[in-house]
Amino acid sequence: FHCPVLLAPGLELDLPDGAARHVQVLRMQPGETVTLFGSDAAGGPAGEFEATILRMGRSDVRVRVGAHTPADREAPRTVHLLAGITAGDRMDWLVEKATELGAASITPLLAERSVLRLKGERADKKRAHWQAVAVAACEQCGRNRVPPVPAAQELAAWVQAHGPAPTATPTDTGTPGAAPLRLLLSLGDGTVPLAQALQAAPAQAPVVFLSGPEGGLSPAEEACARAAGFVPVTLGPRVLRAETAPLAALAAITLA
Ligand code: SAM
Repeated sequence: FHCPVLLAPGLELDLPDGAARHVQVLRMQPGETVTLFGSDAAGGPAGEFEATILRMGRSDVRVRVGAHTPADREAPRTVHLLAGITAGDRMDWLVEKATELGAASITPLLAERSVLRLKGERADKKRAHWQAVAVAACEQCGRNRVPPVPAAQELAAWVQAHGPAPTATPTDTGTPGAAPLRLLLSLGDGTVPLAQALQAAPAQAPVVFLSGPEGGLSPAEEACARAAGFVPVTLGPRVLRAETAPLAALAAITLA
């Protein structure tokens, strides 16, 4: 279960509501153990903790945190998604599956042709909802690092925040890592097959996939992406749905 607090052996805490309900549905008993993982934001170590149930209340479940295991269930290559927001529950589906497949982050793109228009309080609620979908997907699939789902943003804002061209970022050791490979999933002209684009970059380079919503990216967005160093790639001769395309590209890398 995800516990968004700084976890450490010996700490006693009440499980978050959703986790407590789950433990009660399973009719677990004091003395039994559950697996907890924190969040990067809380600053604890990566991996997971065994925790022992101390008390089962009516609605609360008290546990004591025990041993830490640095279990790493991340994909061998870092893949970020910047995906056009889709309508209905299709975006939920995309966030859930992308989390299972190991996306390092999932940024909802407010594309010109996105049917769902998000602003203000509604945008905040949606962001929180998608982040909760990612947490639930981690709990279901055993992933112990929750991919961040940042606030929905327009492509121009993303480019401004991340730089007009890919640049190397420092690694944990302080030495610069390979510059992220920016790839645009495109139905336009001048595309290369995904495998070819990947072969041309260092194997450890993180990848950012940009994909459009149901109606695709506008010509201005395609031009903005190409100017920002996104290499246009094709996933083949069929037009994939907006949620299928980024998931297929993600799977092609993380399951390779
Ligand atoms: N009529 C829209 C158009 O022409 O752009 C279709 C958009 S498609 C449903 C949604 C997104 O999925 C596209 O913007 C693109 O990013 C991605 N996509 C779908 N099929 C693809 C393919 N075969 N190769 C690369 N990207 C694809």
